[in-house]
Amino acid sequence: MTATRWLAEYAWLPEHAEPVPEVLIEAVDGRFTTVTPLTRAGVPTAGVDVLTDVVRLPGLTLPGLANAHSHAFHRALRGRTQGGRGDFWTWRDQMYALTVRLDPDSYLALARATFAEMALAGITCVGEFHYLHHGPGGSRYDDPNAMSAALVEAAAQAGIRISLLDTCYLTASVDGAPLTGPQLRFGDGDAARWGERAAGFTPTGGHARVGAAVHSVRAVPAEQLDTVARWARERDAPLHVHLSEQPAENDACRAVHGRTPTGLLADRGVLGPTTTAVHATHPTSADLGLLGEHRVGVCLCPTTERDLADGIGPARRMADVGIPLSLGSDSHAVIDIFEEARAVELDERLRTHRRGHFVAADLLTSATVAGHTALGWTDAGRIAVGARADLVTVRLDTARTAGVPAVGALFAATAGDVDTVVVDGRTVVAGGRHRSVDVPTELRAAIAEVTA
Ligand SMILES: [Zn+2]
Repeated sequence: MTATRWLAEYAWLPEHAEPVPEVLIEAVDGRFTTVTPLTRAGVPTAGVDVLTDVVRLPGLTLPGLANAHSHAFHRALRGRTQGGRGDFWTWRDQMYALTVRLDPDSYLALARATFAEMALAGITCVGEFHYLHHGPGGSRYDDPNAMSAALVEAAAQAGIRISLLDTCYLTASVDGAPLTGPQLRFGDGDAARWGERAAGFTPTGGHARVGAAVHSVRAVPAEQLDTVARWARERDAPLHVHLSEQPAENDACRAVHGRTPTGLLADRGVLGPTTTAVHATHPTSADLGLLGEHRVGVCLCPTTERDLADGIGPARRMADVGIPLSLGSDSHAVIDIFEEARAVELDERLRTHRRGHFVAADLLTSATVAGHTALGWTDAGRIAVGARADLVTVRLDTARTAGVPAVGALFAATAGDVDTVVVDGRTVVAGGRHRSVDVPTELRAAIAEVTA
């Protein structure tokens, strides 16, 4: 088997507070086989110059970035919801209106372009929180998992891995109001039928795995939560759930169940070490205790939370009780994991009027290994022997990054500074260009198709 070799000017290796200079990285069959800091190995600089068959990676090379929370079709809303007033709920009506034009073909095109934008941004794996299962009015497609298949195929064509989080979405509110209008496409009737349909989907390609999701306590009745949780546990699959994104959800849950959403999920067996709570923007102190006790991860989506005026999740307090933090671009108001990562620190500064809550290595952990773990890819997100060979190289010579020390890149770089992306040993992005997708052209066409 032929080895591929890269020489990174700087690489951020596990357990390091800062990037390491001159690292020789080798992969065979999509896995790292050697990771050697040359200067520490005593290899003279002259030795570096004579290395052959090596792809040089000027700049800072990171492990693959994980986007742990995505709804691919929301990409078509970018820039279309910024006029006027409103809140999460008025935005949601605009989002629902978009679903009308989506079918397996148009969703494949839109998701392919969206996932390719993610690849350009250094994202090597996406968690697709997928609830747009059925046709208009809730009619089943001939293949009831046609939309899931379209998303998995889109990720393959974009060159990234996917965890398809098949989402159970049954009711319109905490008190069990039935789905109506656009929501009818999300529903399977009850959790047992959701589970049967979801179990009938086996993704093709080693780039994909299936997980489960509870849309929220608004969308799955309390007595059916454990059906979804059991489905995920039996398969050792990741289980995600939108949690306390809005104070209104907390209020409704208390009114109906006398518990916070977190308390209800704990009662019903949803919380555990393979569970990821998405947002958790408005937890109580007791909620944080429960999440920590059950070793639940939290996926923060700061750019969406700011876009939708949701609020600021208590990231530092979460980390202090042992909650692993991952990151997601969720509504895709922007797709830039660097921006999500630094927002975790910067939002704490706004809230507390103090700096220095998270160091760069903490933010990198959230952007990489914590996200991959939340999506069930526990062998990714680290540049280390045996791990999946994902690499993301950020240029340090652009207008934004010139003069920035490598350790400071997370606070300076944008998705537009990503030069090279390798996923499972395959080069997907080189020279800042996707190798198989003309991303702007395809995005424009796919969005025109569903918004016309
Ligand atoms: Zn979401």
